[in-house]
Amino acid sequence: MKRILITGSSRGIGKAIAQALARQSLALNGAYSLVLHANKNLSAAQELAQTLTAAGTPATALAFDVSDREQCAAVLNADIEANGAFWGVVCNAGITADNAFPMLSGDEWDRVLRTNLDGFYNVLQTLVMPMVRLRDGGRIVTLSSVSGIVGNRGQVNYSASKAGIIGATKALAVEMAKRKITVNCVAPGFIDTDMTANLLAPKEEIFKAIPMQRAGTPEEVAATVAFLFSPEAAYITRQVISVNGGLC
Ligand code: NDP
Repeated sequence: MKRILITGSSRGIGKAIAQALARQSLALNGAYSLVLHANKNLSAAQELAQTLTAAGTPATALAFDVSDREQCAAVLNADIEANGAFWGVVCNAGITADNAFPMLSGDEWDRVLRTNLDGFYNVLQTLVMPMVRLRDGGRIVTLSSVSGIVGNRGQVNYSASKAGIIGATKALAVEMAKRKITVNCVAPGFIDTDMTANLLAPKEEIFKAIPMQRAGTPEEVAATVAFLFSPEAAYITRQVISVNGGLC
C-alpha cells in the first residue's frame, strides 16, 4: 500500500483532500494508506482516521507544528521508522495573519512565513530521501493561493509565503523528475473554510471580484489534488493549477 501524508487534514481543505484520496484509493482497489496530520486538533484528525478506516481505507493520525523544524523531523522520522516511507505528500497546512503592510507586525510576518514557507522545508526535506529510496515514483502536491500569484491587499506576508511555495515546488519538481516523483502546486481562490470565515470585507463584496460570483468548496480543491495523485496524472509535474472561479 502506498503511504500518503496530508498535512493540516483535521479540517477544511485538508480534510476534503483526505476524503477524496480515500475514495480514489477504494477505486484503485485499496491503493493507499493515509496519515492525517493536525496541529492543535489531533482529536478531529483521529476521528476522521477512524471514519476512513471503517469505510475501507486504513488511516492514522499524528500531530506536530509544521513551523517547528526539530519537531517535524522527530515525529516524521519516528513514523517512517515504524511504518515505512511515504509515497505521497500533500503540504496543505497553512495560516493567515492579515494586516495592512504599515501595521504588519514582525510576529505576523514571522508566523506566516515560518508556517507556510518553512513548513515546506520542514516537512519535505525529511520525507524526500526515504521517498526516493522506495524507487516507486511518487506524488507531492503543495497548496499555494491566488494571493501568491497576483498578490492581495492586507496579505503581504501570506502572498510572499505562497509565492515562495510556487518557486520551491517548481524547483523540487526539476530535482525529482528523473525519480518519477511529480511535484505540483494547487492554487485555490476564495474557498469556504474556517480560514475565510471572519474576513473584514463582506462576502458579497468579495464575490463581485470573482467571475463565478461564489466561494469555492473544499471538495472542489480536493478533486484537483486527487487528480494529481491519480495514475493518469503521471506526466504532469512543475505545474501550478488554479481552482478559483476565474478570479485571475
Ligand atoms: P483552515 O484554517 O480551515 O485549516 C488549516 C489547517 O492547517 C488545520 O488542519 C490546522 O491544524 C493546520 N495548521 C495550521 N497551522 C499549523 C501549524 N503551525 N502546524 C501544523 N498544522 C497547522 O485552512 P484551509 O483549509 O482553508 O486552508 C488549507 C490550505 O489551503 C492552506 O495552506 C491555505 O493557505 C490554502 N488556501 C486556502 C484558501 C481559502 O480560501 N480557504 C485559499 C487559498 C489557499 P489544526 O486544526 O490541527 O490546528
